[in-house]
Amino acid sequence: MYGRSQSAAQMGTQGQIMSTYDYDLFVIGAGSGGLATSKRAASYGARVAIAEGDRVGGTCVIRGCIPKKLMVYAAEHGHAHGDAAGYGWHSETGSLDWSTLVSKRDAAVENLEHIHEGHLEKAGVELVRGRARLVSAHEVEVDGRRVSAKFILISTGGRPILPRISGIEHAITSDGFFELKTQPGHVLIVGGGYIAVEFASIMAGLGTKVTLAIRRDRPLRGFDEDLRTELLAALRAVGVDVRTETTVDSLSRDGESTTCELTGPSGSEQLVVDHAVVYAVGRRADVDGLGLDAIGIELGAKGEIVVADDDRTAVDSVYAIGDVTERAPLTPVAIQAGRALADRLFGNRNTTMSYDDIPTAVFTEPPIATVGLTTEQAIEKYGESGVTVYRAGFGPLIHTLTDRKVRTFIKMIVHNETDRVLGCHMIGHDAPEIIQGLGVAMKAGATKADFDATVGIHPSTAEEFVTFA
Ligand code: NDP
Repeated sequence: MYGRSQSAAQMGTQGQIMSTYDYDLFVIGAGSGGLATSKRAASYGARVAIAEGDRVGGTCVIRGCIPKKLMVYAAEHGHAHGDAAGYGWHSETGSLDWSTLVSKRDAAVENLEHIHEGHLEKAGVELVRGRARLVSAHEVEVDGRRVSAKFILISTGGRPILPRISGIEHAITSDGFFELKTQPGHVLIVGGGYIAVEFASIMAGLGTKVTLAIRRDRPLRGFDEDLRTELLAALRAVGVDVRTETTVDSLSRDGESTTCELTGPSGSEQLVVDHAVVYAVGRRADVDGLGLDAIGIELGAKGEIVVADDDRTAVDSVYAIGDVTERAPLTPVAIQAGRALADRLFGNRNTTMSYDDIPTAVFTEPPIATVGLTTEQAIEKYGESGVTVYRAGFGPLIHTLTDRKVRTFIKMIVHNETDRVLGCHMIGHDAPEIIQGLGVAMKAGATKADFDATVGIHPSTAEEFVTFA
């Protein structure tokens, strides 16, 4: 524990920790990574402060995963309504009250924000309101107040980017999406990554007409190719008008509608949508105003903070974790990396963060979840004859009685020489819940024989992973 073993802190006559610094750790950014690190460090007896210039909780809690998932549930209720008729339920066609949904969603987010503030207080972490700027290797200034710390952690996350096209000021990003006061009748979503496909799926499920413009032939570049193909069909099945190999050249506004000039495989076209054109074309590290240059912290090609494997920046006392480093920009990664860092700095534990086999999900309808190597990555690493790929595609039992033709597709990639499972991929209901468990199996080094020796739960989709012949 820090108070008993750290060399930089000295024990005073009464047994209290004496340090030459105001704090042992000063964290900049109270998002998922910063919150997790600060609480873990405080649990070891470190004196910790965390600065936040916005709301406590960061992107995930305030304008990301949490409000997004609540909207995913709202869309699922819409689908369930129709599905219930297939099971004999008589019901009127439902309609969505957008303002009820967003006000209840926003209240839930605000509640969570207060819960996080409460957790900081309980952990003994001092919350400093304001944007922090580094002034030296051990000093930070927040709103004119200068404090010192033995270690400084930058966990400021990222922010959405926008391309430079004419009329881009008429577009919103994911931040603006969560501020929409009325439900758009027709929305254009631009991008083919996590956010774009999730928003497209949500809005279609909520009854908005959605056009999705992606510049490739399929969404989710980098994911397993079969999943990309399945997702394209799934998006179209929920009514999303997916325009592939399409770019948006300009936007112009006329009252409440926006005219979008598109160029696709069959030439140029004008698309008129409501007030909402949503861009989800990636995010960039949020380093504005941190004063990194002045103290010699390097940025990488994408504007990210460059760190070593132990999260240390070019300045020995300054660390960075999470999206600001662009290493697997996912909330649970930032949390795990932050806790491991606090363990190493203050807990005398050599915990390390592994960036291999990170499970991840995309909350479309149906959702995608994946862990480990894609087929393409596995073949690149072990050769075509070095791996065996198992696939199964089917209509899930739940839709036997409904009118919706939703498909489930699962896939497992096995290394022939060792029998180790290299990757598990799925699109279908409950995919994130199923793949999370398979991620544990893969971390434990499970082989195909281990999967085969596991008895399936019947009837379930998960059992398909243990019955591949
Ligand atoms: P991504 O990096 O995932 O995807 C960006 C997409 O935008 C790509 O399809 C890219 O195309 C496309 N693109 C880039 N520039 C342009 C352009 N000028 N015009 C048209 N399309 C363009 O970014 P997101 O914003 O979707 O998400 C950011 C990150 O947030 C994700 O990588 C993920 O780590 C995280 N996230 C995770 C979620 C989850 O865990 N469920 C949910 C939401 C976000 P191309 O492929 O051609 O480069």
